[in-house]
Amino acid sequence: MNVYRGRFAPSATGSLHLGSIFAALLSFLHAKQQHGQWLVRIDDLDETRCSKSHSDEILHCLSAFGLESDGAVVYQSTRLTDYEDALKTLERQRILYSCTCTRKSLPKGPYIGNCIHRLGKPLLKDAAIRISTTKLSTNVYDLLLGPQMTERPGDFIVKRRDGLFAYQLACAVDEHIDSITDVIRGVDLLESTPMQCFISERLGLVSPNYGHFPILVGSDGVKLSKQTFASPVDRRFPSKAYSKLAKLLSLKDTPSDMDPASTWLTFFQSVTTPAATNVMAGVARTLSV
Ligand code: GLU
Ligand code: ZN
Repeated sequence: MNVYRGRFAPSATGSLHLGSIFAALLSFLHAKQQHGQWLVRIDDLDETRCSKSHSDEILHCLSAFGLESDGAVVYQSTRLTDYEDALKTLERQRILYSCTCTRKSLPKGPYIGNCIHRLGKPLLKDAAIRISTTKLSTNVYDLLLGPQMTERPGDFIVKRRDGLFAYQLACAVDEHIDSITDVIRGVDLLESTPMQCFISERLGLVSPNYGHFPILVGSDGVKLSKQTFASPVDRRFPSKAYSKLAKLLSLKDTPSDMDPASTWLTFFQSVTTPAATNVMAGVARTLSV
């Protein structure tokens, strides 16, 4: 039988905010409820936005919240050869092509295939690389939301012109290397799931199960994120953030604001079941803080 292995994969672009702790906690609980393992992976491919100080801060913060990786923390930046090998495998299937379009020249929405005439031809050095998605299925079975159908993504980029591997390619390779069986993350990433499954399929890899939960939005209705400068959680007082999350989840008989992170985790584990998580995810796509 496959051992459950979940993960939390923050980008090393800034400190964790309440939305990130929510994501970490839900993936952690989902794993622990199923006696599984929970890994932390640092997404640090984009050198212009990521830094060691951010990833160190993230790991300190998770630790303060009692969220420790079962096994060595993985850094995407150490896996460039794995991503390159995956790209070669896709290239051999003649489903990649070079795209020389500039972002400005393209209309909003899915890529319209201007450069499809290069399909299967040798890849150009100074161009983005796209993958042909005619065989991509947009049906996903979501563990928390049930059957979902997403928008067609168009032929998406797997490697940018500046050499950066796309998140979808890196992630598909990572989930395989790390033997991840279940990906529990925010619904803002639902649209990415068919792309990740498609890449896994083309690489001959088994996709993990996916489950998407509501994302936290501020009073302005905008997702809490590092980009919108959501305030970082204070890792000196994990109980404060945990108590806010418990309120959002309408949990009763919560520990006090002074209790240590471990007490909170025991509490969350005792009151949340996979079924409860499902119900919560089914009722809302966003939760307002
Ligand atoms: N680093 C990505 C993010 O933070 C990973 C998301 C995921 O697949 O869980 O948006
Ligand atoms: Zn193009």
